[in-house]
Amino acid sequence: MTLGVLGGTFDPIHNGHLAAGLRAQAALGLAQVLVVPSRIPPHRSTGASPQDRLAMASLAAAQQRGWTASDIELKREGLSYTFDTLTALRATLTQQFFFIIGADAFAEIATWSRYPAVLDLAHFAVVARPGITLDSLQKRLPDLAERMTTPDLFKPPTYAKASAGKQSSSVRPAIILIQAETPDLSSTTIRRRVRAGESISELVPASVASYISTHHLYVGTNL
Ligand code: ATP
Ligand code: MG
Repeated sequence: MTLGVLGGTFDPIHNGHLAAGLRAQAALGLAQVLVVPSRIPPHRSTGASPQDRLAMASLAAAQQRGWTASDIELKREGLSYTFDTLTALRATLTQQFFFIIGADAFAEIATWSRYPAVLDLAHFAVVARPGITLDSLQKRLPDLAERMTTPDLFKPPTYAKASAGKQSSSVRPAIILIQAETPDLSSTTIRRRVRAGESISELVPASVASYISTHHLYVGTNL
Protein backbone atom coordinates (compact mmCIF):
# COMPACT_ATOMS: atom_id res chain seq x y z
CA MET A 1 0.00 0.00 0.00
CA THR A 2 1.73 3.15 -1.12
CA LEU A 3 0.78 6.54 0.15
CA GLY A 4 1.01 10.03 -1.31
CA VAL A 5 1.06 13.07 0.97
CA LEU A 6 -0.33 16.22 -0.63
CA GLY A 7 0.66 19.27 1.39
CA GLY A 8 -0.40 22.87 0.94
CA THR A 9 -2.31 25.82 2.32
CA PHE A 10 -5.55 24.77 0.57
CA ASP A 11 -7.14 28.20 0.99
CA PRO A 12 -9.35 26.75 -0.47
CA ILE A 13 -8.71 23.32 -2.00
CA HIS A 14 -9.57 23.40 -5.73
CA ASN A 15 -9.70 21.25 -8.86
CA GLY A 16 -6.00 21.94 -9.60
CA HIS A 17 -5.01 20.32 -6.28
CA LEU A 18 -7.27 17.36 -7.01
CA ALA A 19 -5.81 16.98 -10.51
CA ALA A 20 -2.24 17.10 -9.17
CA GLY A 21 -3.01 14.42 -6.57
CA LEU A 22 -4.87 12.23 -9.07
CA ARG A 23 -2.06 12.50 -11.64
CA ALA A 24 0.52 11.50 -9.04
CA GLN A 25 -1.75 8.70 -7.83
CA ALA A 26 -2.10 7.32 -11.38
CA ALA A 27 1.57 7.74 -12.32
CA LEU A 28 2.87 6.03 -9.18
CA GLY A 29 0.04 3.61 -8.43
CA LEU A 30 -0.68 5.15 -5.04
CA ALA A 31 -3.38 3.40 -3.02
CA GLN A 32 -3.90 6.31 -0.64
CA VAL A 33 -3.58 10.08 -0.69
CA LEU A 34 -3.38 12.11 2.51
CA VAL A 35 -4.26 15.80 2.12
CA VAL A 36 -2.38 17.82 4.74
CA PRO A 37 -3.40 21.47 5.18
CA SER A 38 -0.74 23.57 6.87
CA ARG A 39 -1.08 25.99 9.71
CA ILE A 40 -0.05 29.39 8.53
CA PRO A 41 3.23 31.10 9.25
CA PRO A 42 2.58 34.44 11.00
CA HIS A 43 3.86 36.44 8.04
CA ARG A 44 1.38 34.87 5.60
CA SER A 45 -2.24 35.68 6.18
CA THR A 46 -4.97 33.39 4.94
CA GLY A 47 -8.56 33.94 3.98
CA ALA A 48 -9.89 31.00 5.96
CA SER A 49 -9.02 29.54 9.36
CA PRO A 50 -7.04 26.29 9.61
CA GLN A 51 -10.22 24.52 10.73
CA ASP A 52 -12.19 25.76 7.71
CA ARG A 53 -9.36 24.81 5.34
CA LEU A 54 -9.23 21.33 6.87
CA ALA A 55 -13.02 20.99 6.65
CA MET A 56 -12.96 21.87 2.93
CA ALA A 57 -10.05 19.49 2.31
CA SER A 58 -12.05 16.75 4.05
CA LEU A 59 -15.11 17.39 1.89
CA ALA A 60 -13.02 17.23 -1.28
CA ALA A 61 -11.10 14.14 -0.15
CA ALA A 62 -14.32 12.30 0.69
CA GLN A 63 -15.18 12.20 -3.01
CA GLN A 64 -11.92 10.57 -4.11
CA ARG A 65 -11.18 6.88 -3.66
CA GLY A 66 -8.42 6.33 -1.10
CA TRP A 67 -8.16 10.00 -0.09
CA THR A 68 -8.39 11.42 3.42
CA ALA A 69 -7.53 14.77 4.97
CA SER A 70 -5.20 14.96 7.95
CA ASP A 71 -5.00 17.38 10.86
CA ILE A 72 -1.36 16.47 11.60
CA GLU A 73 -0.10 20.01 10.91
CA LEU A 74 -3.00 21.71 12.64
CA LYS A 75 -2.35 19.81 15.85
CA ARG A 76 1.30 20.83 15.97
CA GLU A 77 2.10 24.13 17.65
CA GLY A 78 4.12 26.73 15.83
CA LEU A 79 5.03 26.95 12.16
CA SER A 80 4.31 24.09 9.78
CA TYR A 81 7.51 22.74 8.37
CA THR A 82 7.34 19.88 5.90
CA PHE A 83 10.49 18.49 7.51
CA ASP A 84 8.64 18.02 10.81
CA THR A 85 5.58 16.53 9.11
CA LEU A 86 7.56 14.00 7.08
CA THR A 87 9.61 13.09 10.16
CA ALA A 88 6.41 12.45 12.13
CA LEU A 89 4.92 10.36 9.31
CA ARG A 90 8.09 8.26 9.04
CA ALA A 91 7.78 7.44 12.74
CA THR A 92 4.27 6.04 12.31
CA LEU A 93 4.27 4.52 8.82
CA THR A 94 5.81 1.27 7.74
CA GLN A 95 5.17 1.72 4.03
CA GLN A 96 7.08 3.95 1.67
CA PHE A 97 5.48 7.25 0.84
CA PHE A 98 5.69 10.10 -1.59
CA PHE A 99 5.39 13.82 -0.91
CA ILE A 100 3.35 15.28 -3.78
CA ILE A 101 4.20 18.85 -4.68
CA GLY A 102 3.53 21.19 -7.60
CA ALA A 103 6.40 22.39 -9.77
CA ASP A 104 6.04 26.02 -8.59
CA ALA A 105 6.44 25.02 -4.96
CA PHE A 106 9.30 22.64 -5.70
CA ALA A 107 11.11 25.43 -7.57
CA GLU A 108 11.47 27.14 -4.15
CA ILE A 109 12.71 24.03 -2.32
CA ALA A 110 16.17 25.47 -1.69
CA THR A 111 14.58 28.12 0.55
CA TRP A 112 12.83 25.53 2.74
CA SER A 113 13.71 24.77 6.34
CA ARG A 114 16.19 21.86 6.60
CA TYR A 115 17.00 21.82 2.88
CA PRO A 116 18.46 19.55 1.52
CA ALA A 117 17.84 17.12 4.41
CA VAL A 118 14.08 17.37 3.86
CA LEU A 119 14.54 15.59 0.52
CA ASP A 120 15.89 12.51 2.27
CA LEU A 121 12.68 11.89 4.24
CA ALA A 122 10.40 10.78 1.39
CA HIS A 123 10.29 10.44 -2.36
CA PHE A 124 9.22 13.76 -3.84
CA ALA A 125 6.63 13.50 -6.61
CA VAL A 126 6.73 16.79 -8.50
CA VAL A 127 3.70 17.48 -10.70
CA ALA A 128 3.93 19.99 -13.54
CA ARG A 129 1.92 23.15 -13.07
CA PRO A 130 0.86 25.49 -15.88
CA GLY A 131 3.57 28.10 -16.37
CA ILE A 132 6.41 26.02 -14.87
CA THR A 133 7.98 23.32 -17.02
CA LEU A 134 9.71 20.34 -15.47
CA ASP A 135 12.78 21.07 -17.65
CA SER A 136 13.13 24.43 -15.95
CA LEU A 137 13.46 22.67 -12.59
CA GLN A 138 16.57 20.82 -13.73
CA LYS A 139 18.15 24.10 -14.79
CA ARG A 140 17.06 25.92 -11.68
CA LEU A 141 18.18 23.18 -9.28
CA PRO A 142 21.34 21.74 -10.87
CA ASP A 143 22.50 20.16 -7.59
CA LEU A 144 19.39 17.97 -7.64
CA ALA A 145 19.37 17.12 -11.34
CA GLU A 146 21.00 13.70 -10.90
CA ARG A 147 18.33 12.68 -8.38
CA MET A 148 15.50 13.58 -10.74
CA THR A 149 13.75 10.75 -12.54
CA THR A 150 10.42 9.95 -14.20
CA PRO A 151 7.65 7.53 -13.16
CA ASP A 152 8.53 5.00 -15.89
CA LEU A 153 12.19 4.85 -14.82
CA PHE A 154 11.23 4.69 -11.15
CA LYS A 155 10.36 0.98 -10.94
CA PRO A 156 11.35 -2.24 -9.13
CA PRO A 157 13.83 -3.26 -7.89
CA THR A 158 14.67 0.35 -6.99
CA TYR A 159 11.01 0.93 -6.19
CA ALA A 160 10.84 -1.97 -3.75
CA LYS A 161 14.15 -1.21 -2.06
CA ALA A 162 13.74 2.52 -1.77
CA SER A 163 11.26 2.35 1.07
CA ALA A 164 10.95 5.94 2.10
CA GLY A 165 9.03 4.97 5.21
CA LYS A 166 11.72 2.79 6.75
CA GLN A 167 14.63 2.92 4.38
CA SER A 168 18.21 2.04 4.97
CA SER A 169 20.41 5.09 5.11
CA SER A 170 22.17 4.02 1.92
CA VAL A 171 19.02 4.41 -0.19
CA ARG A 172 18.31 7.97 -1.22
CA PRO A 173 14.72 8.85 -1.98
CA ALA A 174 14.12 10.02 -5.51
CA ILE A 175 12.67 13.17 -7.03
CA ILE A 176 10.11 11.98 -9.57
CA LEU A 177 9.02 14.48 -12.20
CA ILE A 178 5.45 13.86 -13.39
CA GLN A 179 4.50 15.45 -16.68
CA ALA A 180 0.78 16.13 -16.46
CA GLU A 181 -1.86 18.60 -17.51
CA THR A 182 -3.60 20.25 -14.59
CA PRO A 183 -6.06 23.15 -14.69
CA ASP A 184 -4.49 26.60 -14.70
CA LEU A 185 -6.05 27.46 -11.39
CA SER A 186 -4.97 28.81 -8.01
CA SER A 187 -6.56 29.43 -4.63
CA THR A 188 -5.73 33.12 -5.14
CA THR A 189 -8.00 33.15 -8.21
CA ILE A 190 -10.80 31.49 -6.28
CA ARG A 191 -10.59 33.92 -3.36
CA ARG A 192 -10.69 36.83 -5.82
CA ARG A 193 -13.67 35.41 -7.65
CA VAL A 194 -15.64 34.88 -4.44
CA ARG A 195 -14.85 38.42 -3.32
CA ALA A 196 -16.01 39.73 -6.69
CA GLY A 197 -19.23 37.70 -6.47
CA GLU A 198 -18.25 35.49 -9.43
CA SER A 199 -19.05 31.80 -9.76
CA ILE A 200 -16.50 29.19 -8.69
CA SER A 201 -18.72 26.22 -9.46
CA GLU A 202 -16.42 24.95 -12.24
CA LEU A 203 -13.27 25.39 -10.15
CA VAL A 204 -13.90 23.57 -6.87
CA PRO A 205 -16.03 20.54 -5.87
CA ALA A 206 -19.68 21.43 -5.25
CA SER A 207 -19.34 20.55 -1.56
CA VAL A 208 -16.48 23.06 -1.21
CA ALA A 209 -18.37 25.80 -3.05
CA SER A 210 -21.30 25.20 -0.75
CA TYR A 211 -19.08 25.33 2.38
CA ILE A 212 -17.56 28.64 1.24
CA SER A 213 -20.98 30.12 0.70
CA THR A 214 -22.52 28.80 3.94
CA HIS A 215 -19.60 30.03 6.04
CA HIS A 216 -19.27 33.36 4.21
CA LEU A 217 -15.59 32.72 3.50
CA TYR A 218 -13.43 35.06 1.42
CA VAL A 219 -15.97 37.85 1.41
CA GLY A 220 -14.61 41.29 2.20
CA THR A 221 -10.96 40.25 2.44
CA ASN A 222 -8.11 41.51 0.30
CA LEU A 223 -6.62 38.10 -0.32
P1 ATP B 1 -2.29 30.19 -3.55
O1 ATP B 1 -2.74 30.92 -4.77
O2 ATP B 1 -2.96 30.62 -2.28
O3 ATP B 1 -0.78 30.07 -3.42
P2 ATP B 1 -2.35 27.53 -4.71
O4 ATP B 1 -3.42 27.30 -5.71
O5 ATP B 1 -0.96 27.75 -5.20
O6 ATP B 1 -2.82 28.69 -3.74
P3 ATP B 1 -1.33 25.93 -2.55
O7 ATP B 1 -2.11 25.54 -1.35
O8 ATP B 1 -0.31 27.01 -2.45
O9 ATP B 1 -2.39 26.31 -3.70
O10 ATP B 1 -0.67 24.64 -3.22
C1 ATP B 1 -0.55 23.39 -2.58
C2 ATP B 1 0.20 22.46 -3.51
O11 ATP B 1 -0.59 22.18 -4.68
C3 ATP B 1 1.52 23.05 -4.02
O12 ATP B 1 2.49 22.02 -4.06
C4 ATP B 1 1.16 23.55 -5.40
O13 ATP B 1 2.28 23.58 -6.26
C5 ATP B 1 0.14 22.50 -5.87
N1 ATP B 1 -0.80 23.02 -6.85
C6 ATP B 1 -1.73 23.97 -6.66
N2 ATP B 1 -2.44 24.20 -7.77
C7 ATP B 1 -1.94 23.37 -8.72
C8 ATP B 1 -2.27 23.17 -10.11
N3 ATP B 1 -3.22 23.88 -10.75
N4 ATP B 1 -1.54 22.23 -10.77
C9 ATP B 1 -0.56 21.54 -10.14
N5 ATP B 1 -0.21 21.70 -8.84
C10 ATP B 1 -0.90 22.61 -8.13
MG1 MG C 1 0.59 28.44 -3.92
